[in-house]
Amino acid sequence: MLFLPLGPLLSCFLRSLVPTLLLVGSLLYAARRGPMGAGSSGRGRGLFSVGETTARVLKSNIDVWFADVAGCEEAKLEIMEFVNFLKNPKQYQDLGAKIPKGAMVTGPPGTGKTLLAKAAAGEASVPFITVNGSEFLEMFVGVGPARVRDMFAMARNNAPYILFTDEIDAIGRKRGRGHFGGQSEQENTLNQMLVEMDRFNSATSVVVLAGTNRPDILDLALIWPGWFDRQIDIGPPDIKGRSSIFKVHLRPLKLHESLRKDALARKLAALTPGFTGADISNVCNEAALIAARHLSPSVQEKHFEQAIERIIGGLEKKTQVLQPREKTTVAYHEAGHAVVGWFLEHVDTLLKVSIIPWGRGLGYAQCLPREQHLYTQEQLFDCMCMMLGGRVAEQLCFGQVTTGAQDDLRKVTQSAYAQIVQFGMSEKLGQMSFDFPQRGKALLIDEEVRRLISAAYKRTLDLLTRCREHVEKVGQWLLEKEVLEKADMVELLGPRPFAEKSTYEEFVEGTGGLEEDTSLPAGLKGWNRGQEEGDIEQPVRGNSL
Ligand code: ADP
Ligand code: ZN
Repeated sequence: MLFLPLGPLLSCFLRSLVPTLLLVGSLLYAARRGPMGAGSSGRGRGLFSVGETTARVLKSNIDVWFADVAGCEEAKLEIMEFVNFLKNPKQYQDLGAKIPKGAMVTGPPGTGKTLLAKAAAGEASVPFITVNGSEFLEMFVGVGPARVRDMFAMARNNAPYILFTDEIDAIGRKRGRGHFGGQSEQENTLNQMLVEMDRFNSATSVVVLAGTNRPDILDLALIWPGWFDRQIDIGPPDIKGRSSIFKVHLRPLKLHESLRKDALARKLAALTPGFTGADISNVCNEAALIAARHLSPSVQEKHFEQAIERIIGGLEKKTQVLQPREKTTVAYHEAGHAVVGWFLEHVDTLLKVSIIPWGRGLGYAQCLPREQHLYTQEQLFDCMCMMLGGRVAEQLCFGQVTTGAQDDLRKVTQSAYAQIVQFGMSEKLGQMSFDFPQRGKALLIDEEVRRLISAAYKRTLDLLTRCREHVEKVGQWLLEKEVLEKADMVELLGPRPFAEKSTYEEFVEGTGGLEEDTSLPAGLKGWNRGQEEGDIEQPVRGNSL
């Protein structure tokens, strides 16, 4: 028989009440603060001002120009048409042209979508309203559509205007999904937006720009002609793009006199594959902060290097003490990664190995990812081996493994599944790619994944067994010095037996010139406020424009 004592029962009941109490409390709190939450309460809004828009209006004199946005020349060219329209609406009206009402700017976070919209407002000298899509969705029914109405009314009454809705996916998700009866608040909000845009005519000098990093989930109506019929995609910048973005953000910094901005920008661009504009802006600022912390009178190259490392790896935790045994394990684990990487042709160039505990782990082997869009099977296999190098070294040197390889194993598994399921690289499954597990294929897929990972493990084990001495050397060095750079690796193991790319010039070789903006469309050249207004005093901003 089960005997339930009363005490625990009571406390259990009380505990189950806690969420309810919290919910009631937060509702009361929200009602007192008004639906707009903390941000708006300062402006004295209460419960009944539900319709008021939360959009922030940046009045004229926005000091962002096209020259401040680098590395996305095609996008600038597209946006320029809207700028022209806002500046000379008559030119279009006279010709009877219908102006597109809006553009959807898509791209990963931090690639400059907001910046581009702001620059458009700056160039057109019109005010700029910005609002986040999620701000329309509140817990009170009807708030979203009311806010949309308000915002558009505000824009219409004060036209010309640029209206920027960031994260439009919050309201623009596909309609008619997962609801039983009635429309959701989100759908109503989206409908209201479409209705408002429908009311535009060729005399409405309002341009609506919207940003999202999830174009795949958007309702198709949004991108039909008549609404956001222009789509502008901004991808993460390539090496040339990064170099021009660096030039923009190096401008305000006081650099050491030995540094030339152009050369530095190119060098840093080569060191930062995968970085977005926001990351780059972060690197430049972080470098200046590091310089200040070291009381340096100017920012030096090493400060940039430290800033990049910090952004890739997170903060070093110098205070965290590792037990000697753990430290040895970490050293040999990282040495395993480094040695495997050194002797496999297709893995990325090694930059640095460290066993100083850092933000997200105990040690790391940092590589310079190559600028690459397509990978061969061989390359993926080499990468898997390098990722397994840590675990194999532990097994080989200590005869036992630790939990330290979890992240490596996760990546290996992901890569293997992707190769088999998405890239059609398994002979047994054939040339197929699917997103969802296929009925009846699960067993075969698992088998193939296991086969692939075992093959990679065996190859890595063979390699490290042959190079055991090297692992010892690198491991011992790490134990003693904690950090190992590429030059130290050359000293310990001799030069890497493969050619490597590392400079800007090597990376851009064969991609159409060394210059960052050779692809700059003719229409954009000289697109500069200073020149336009005949003001020769004003310096041309940036080199690209
Ligand atoms: P998003 O809206 O795409 O998330 P933001 O426009 O907010 O990105 O970018 C954040 C910051 O990153 C900008 O204020 C700017 O300093 C920097 N940045 C991003 N992209 C670029 C770019 N293409 N050129 C120059 N700076 C950029
Ligand atoms: Zn590892």
